[in-house]
Amino acid sequence: MKYQYKIRTHHGMCMAFFQGKGYSSEFTAHMGEIIHKLESNPTICISTQTDIICSKCPKNKQGLCETERKVIEYDRQVLKYCGLSEGTVMPYADFKKAVYENILIPNKREEMCGNCQWNELCHFNAEQ
Ligand code: SF4
Repeated sequence: MKYQYKIRTHHGMCMAFFQGKGYSSEFTAHMGEIIHKLESNPTICISTQTDIICSKCPKNKQGLCETERKVIEYDRQVLKYCGLSEGTVMPYADFKKAVYENILIPNKREEMCGNCQWNELCHFNAEQ
């Protein structure tokens, strides 16, 4: 099935807490644009590889994340908790709902990605 964007699975959590902070000004501007585009509910492909958000990240080294071992584990956790599979094509709104209902509302985010460098920021934003 055709899709508009490939989305790395754990980015479903990153986007939920995004407050305009990130790895570089280019990265944050781009991530903000992608989040805005996803609001129109395009069809996405669930992935565990670098995606449209990674495309402007300074940690993206020729298509591989510098912290690949860590982030792929986040991807696997999100897939498991949401009952999704890599390569699933679905409306973005359904993916967002799955992340909220299975991870964020039951407060499971921190046990999944609490070792991320942005954890404190997400923790603070979740408290607000
Ligand atoms: S390249 Fe790695 S650190 Fe950068 S956005 Fe992608 S997964 Fe995150």
